[in-house]
Amino acid sequence: MRHAVYARYFATLLFLVSALIPPAAFAADTALPRVAVLATGGTIAGQADARAANAYNAGAVGAQQLVQAVPGIEKLAQLSTEQVASIGSQDMNDKVWFALARRIQQIFDRNEADAVVITHGTDTLEETAFFLDNVLHTDKPVVLVGSMRPSTATSADGPSNLYEAVEVAASPSARGRGVMVVLNDTIQSARATTKTNTTSVQTFVSPNSGPIGYVDPASVRFLAPAFQPDSHKYTLPSGEALPRVAIVYSHANMDGVEIDSAIASKAKGIVLAGVGDGNTSKTALDALERAAKQGIVVVRASRVGSGFVNRNVEVNDDQNGFVVSLDLNAQKARILTQLLIANGITAPAQVQKAFAATW
Ligand code: ASP
Repeated sequence: MRHAVYARYFATLLFLVSALIPPAAFAADTALPRVAVLATGGTIAGQADARAANAYNAGAVGAQQLVQAVPGIEKLAQLSTEQVASIGSQDMNDKVWFALARRIQQIFDRNEADAVVITHGTDTLEETAFFLDNVLHTDKPVVLVGSMRPSTATSADGPSNLYEAVEVAASPSARGRGVMVVLNDTIQSARATTKTNTTSVQTFVSPNSGPIGYVDPASVRFLAPAFQPDSHKYTLPSGEALPRVAIVYSHANMDGVEIDSAIASKAKGIVLAGVGDGNTSKTALDALERAAKQGIVVVRASRVGSGFVNRNVEVNDDQNGFVVSLDLNAQKARILTQLLIANGITAPAQVQKAFAATW
């Protein structure tokens, strides 16, 4: 009987003492940065399909399930999830881009989160990253992440990539670095990175500059201090579509048919994925000259995959009214051209200046 009284007295004392000390787990949780995870689909959210041993449907797994499948992720940040789209990124489009850009800007303007992570298919991930990098006005971290293997695969890379993406987003040193891409332990910048392998988990590289940092479960390491010039920021046009800009791929025996058809389709710009340093045949150059004379913005990029396209080397850009893409590959040159046209920047000299903004 006396034992029971002591036990009750002891329990009451314990309760009173514990009420005075805030629970450590809660204190730690609210001290963590707030990271909003916006899901768009892709292989990272892919689920096995019966068609074949390696077949899967991209975008089948929801945002919350994705996050819940990552052990320990809740120790990195206070996470919220939103499903923006559920598509393979081969179907990525202006409508989803505009929705993403507007929502992310709203999240930051309303101080709803300290950083954003976007789960995305890898096929066009570099394009979404580059688009957002050019239209978001913030120095808070935005990280795109994908995976090469679906969530149901043996040794799926999605959970570790998502863990590391949140780790980077939550890192104080990630501020002021523009939009980043995290896959397979590397941190790449939106401008420099590109998908280079159809199947390997080490597919994103930055051919001209290398990664901007590395991440592992224990650390986030950037190779240089943050430097984010604001001169390459553009206003998102109203509505939900960017102006039409065509990419024409150059090859041996090239004629002007695709270029003329881009002109006929009322493209406002044409990006040449040229051979070598943005080159193409005399016939195709003549067609590009015709386009430039009509006020179509003509940008010479390269199909090579690395290096810079320079002005006035083999092609007389000054005379023809052409622009060179410098380090930007054709798919990113297309997006910048679209944004420039949407912002009323179409004169070749001004367009060239914008392409050179970070150099
Ligand atoms: N087709 C997929 C996608 O881009 C491939 C991937 O995510 O790796 O959505």
